[in-house]
Amino acid sequence: MDLQTAEQRIKELQNLLNQYGYEYYVLDKPSVPDAEYDQLMQELLKLEEEFPQLKTPDSPTQRVGGAILDMFEKVEHAIPMLSLGNAFNEQDLRDFDARVRKAVGDNVSYVCELKIDGLAVSLRYEDGLFVQGATRGDGTIGEDITANIRTINSVPLRLMEPVSIEVRGEAYMPKRSFETLNEARKERGEELFANPRNAAAGSLRQLDPKIAASRKLDTFLYAIGNPEAIGVAAHSEGLDYLDHLGFKTNKERRKCATIAEVLEYINSWTEKRPQLPYEIDGIVIKVDSFAQQAALGTTAKSPRWAIAYKFPAEEVVTTLFDIELSVGRTGVITPTAILEPVKVAGTTVQRASLHNEDLIREKDIKIGDKVVVKKAGDIIPEVVNVLADQRTGEEKDFHMPTHCPECESELVRLEGEVALRCINPKCPAQIREGLIHFVSRDAMNIDGLGEKVISQLFAEKLISDVADIYKLTREQLISLERMGEKSVSNLLEAIEASKANSLEKLLFGLGIRLVGAKAAKTLAQAFGTMDQLAAASKEELTAINEIGEKMADSIVNYFELEEAAELIEELKAVGVNMEYKGARPVTPEESDSVFAGKTVVLTGKLEQLSRNEAKEKIEALGGNVAGSVSKKTHLVVAGADAGSKLAKAQELGIEIWDEEKLLEELNK
Ligand SMILES: [Zn+2]
Repeated sequence: MDLQTAEQRIKELQNLLNQYGYEYYVLDKPSVPDAEYDQLMQELLKLEEEFPQLKTPDSPTQRVGGAILDMFEKVEHAIPMLSLGNAFNEQDLRDFDARVRKAVGDNVSYVCELKIDGLAVSLRYEDGLFVQGATRGDGTIGEDITANIRTINSVPLRLMEPVSIEVRGEAYMPKRSFETLNEARKERGEELFANPRNAAAGSLRQLDPKIAASRKLDTFLYAIGNPEAIGVAAHSEGLDYLDHLGFKTNKERRKCATIAEVLEYINSWTEKRPQLPYEIDGIVIKVDSFAQQAALGTTAKSPRWAIAYKFPAEEVVTTLFDIELSVGRTGVITPTAILEPVKVAGTTVQRASLHNEDLIREKDIKIGDKVVVKKAGDIIPEVVNVLADQRTGEEKDFHMPTHCPECESELVRLEGEVALRCINPKCPAQIREGLIHFVSRDAMNIDGLGEKVISQLFAEKLISDVADIYKLTREQLISLERMGEKSVSNLLEAIEASKANSLEKLLFGLGIRLVGAKAAKTLAQAFGTMDQLAAASKEELTAINEIGEKMADSIVNYFELEEAAELIEELKAVGVNMEYKGARPVTPEESDSVFAGKTVVLTGKLEQLSRNEAKEKIEALGGNVAGSVSKKTHLVVAGADAGSKLAKAQELGIEIWDEEKLLEELNK
């Protein structure tokens, strides 16, 4: 295809895809099947790859997420982003209405909008082209999150008209995206986000825009930064204008002539709120006319012409029947409240985590207490407080045990920790949890061997350590409850297959203290075999980027244990693989490249290579790529717009290359 034809087709595809995207993400009215959209997108991607000079910043292909950033630049808001005063009840709203009418007279109307529980953002467009996205920050100075905002499908990259405008709104995570995200995190053993708002904020403050792109965020825009310049006279007109420009606005807004109508709107949404596909935490009420807004003015903190009504938190009262204790894999004892079943936010709640002893004491929780339980978003419920004035005298104090509920050895509180631990290495609860961890997805990933089966096998004394899993026989398994021929065959196959796993899976599965899945991979890559790792000294371990003193100590201590050595011998004997199977970085001795043994820092924007590609290439030549500049840095590669790292390198007198020089050396 020649350049001219390509240019024409690319324009055509961009327009089509922008149109379909707008219909799908903003209007929620898709006009073509997904497959057709995907096919056109693939065609565009291919063409843009072939003719990179024809790629434009408003191309729909630019939503996938670009280069990883070092840090967020600060952005000063041309017009400060004020926060709103709050109303918590009907009286607060009536007072607000009275103040407004006193100042501007009775001829006033309000616009009511749902208060989306997300993150306030400001978007800037020049001649209709999206140029910058920023967080609210402290209202005056926010952070430049342009790369992340660009990945949100409902944010137009080009407006319907070539205007220069700053608009404000909320970026949020829909409930469905939030649930899917947390499910995936749970499976990976990662910390869960407490609510969609935290998840949205966490996603937008990611330095890697690809992560933001994967999080399925959405937006509702609700204000124009400088409406007078645009020539609209009222807030409601401004919202219609935002629709006209191609933004997504919330359609549940309503114009109200009286405070009674406002209250009615609030009441109806208090009820309908759980049915929305996104979270709201209140209702925003604004005086519609900009002239009246100007007459009312603002205080130092917030405008006098608007107020945010906050819904009361969803809390209920129930009885705390009992406190249960469980012992985790690392021996941590966790108390859980057993509650009289009660409905909160549409679901029945009967357990709440109490986290640790300090929290129980702080809240003065007794068994038999009436307690207030809150459910934040759709997450694990918590006990907010105790209704001490409703005590009958029958309530019992709760004391954390001094001994492990499973093995009866004395519990200890390690320095600097709030948790009580059982430190008996033979504690059956810990061994059982350790076995469950060993077969989990990021570890040996043995399908069909879940928590229930492991607990059963352990209770029947068919397994007592992880090596025993590999000695299980068909006869033993078939004797278990609910185990048919077919599932036993599948299970034996899965166990057999897991023997071939690469070293990092086994390493993570062993549950060495402080060694997570990522560190296990780093260690496996660096040492190649279990024996090499077992023989490594603390110095050899800390020489590796990412392995700190504490983790190194923990690894050395583990391999010094006689039990560990025996266990590894046993695993070898049953045929479990002890080698790393992925690609290994070349050691300095094996390389004659200029990068061998050097610590390199990449900063700024590279044009020809992604940061990751450059890192891989340097490591393949025996170099080491670090994240920050220090005296130990040998070399800094500075791309376009390099910032503080370049300055620091200059200060320390470190050798500095541009991208061209890097490519030249990589290609030698
Ligand atoms: Zn124990």
